[in-house]
Amino acid sequence: MGEIESITEWCHEVIKSQAQAGGFYIDATMGKGNDTLMLCRLAGNAGRVLAFDIQEEALRITEERLKEQGMSHLAELILDGHEHMDRYAGAESADVICFNFGYLPGGDHDIATSAATSAEAIKKGLKILKSGGMMNLCIYSGGDTGFEEKERILEFLRKLPAREYTVIVNEYYNRENHPPMPVFVFKH
Ligand code: SAH
Repeated sequence: MGEIESITEWCHEVIKSQAQAGGFYIDATMGKGNDTLMLCRLAGNAGRVLAFDIQEEALRITEERLKEQGMSHLAELILDGHEHMDRYAGAESADVICFNFGYLPGGDHDIATSAATSAEAIKKGLKILKSGGMMNLCIYSGGDTGFEEKERILEFLRKLPAREYTVIVNEYYNRENHPPMPVFVFKH
């Protein structure tokens, strides 16, 4: 992929170029802590990070990575579904919210995000996002993931009022086998 090794790395570059540093960030799908770590760097000592996952394993792996980097004090790791994120964060409070859907790489493919809870979490996330804040979604499809979640999310995003949100959907135009689709939503 040339200078950019992975789609997540590309998303991180976009986030870092657009987001305010030292703020409040949410990683809605902790997984192995990739986004959590990037958000902690963006937060620095002035900022704060919340990260969600429903698997103990994700919290364990992420906690370990943050400790290695001396950043575990910056993030609160929450064992709960992201569809409940409104229990942990207030309206108009977050600068960035990241979603990386699908299953934990190397983990159980059956424990994955799903259409209904993902749509609910995005809806709640948009309320939690500050005006001027952004949401990043990396959407997967095909294989064990199927297409229902992707279709549901894209359908929801298409209907967001243009006065309130700018929705940018990116695609690998010339790649086969259902590549991931990175999406950015900017709240006006
Ligand atoms: N597909 C990505 C990684 C996604 S990890 C890649 O290949 O890089 C997605 C994480 O979301 C998993 O760790 C899974 O446990 C978690 N998850 C599933 N349902 C969730 C929910 N309702 N709330 C929060 N996290 C969830």
